[in-house]
Amino acid sequence: MTDQTTQGCGCGAKQPVQLNTTLSRIMNKVFVSDDEKKRRMDICRACPHFGELLSQCELCGCFLEAKTRLVASHCALDQIGEEPKW
Ligand code: SF4
Repeated sequence: MTDQTTQGCGCGAKQPVQLNTTLSRIMNKVFVSDDEKKRRMDICRACPHFGELLSQCELCGCFLEAKTRLVASHCALDQIGEEPKW
């Protein structure tokens, strides 16, 4: 089997490597690392607004397993005039 990460399609270009790099850059702009997600979830689990049944924030209604993964999201405490915890 051909190593597509270095051999490409045989035309000499290394598009699979470039594609992986580009995809990785996009993913890093959309999703936080596992460590950052865990840090956020730990904060949420200790928060009085954490809905344990569905791991849901009781202020914004978001499902925190998804929300804590997104770079563009933040803690919902600002909705009640408090400083967001993450
Ligand atoms: S997003 Fe903020 S307010 Fe909501 S559960 Fe997490 S820490 Fe609490």
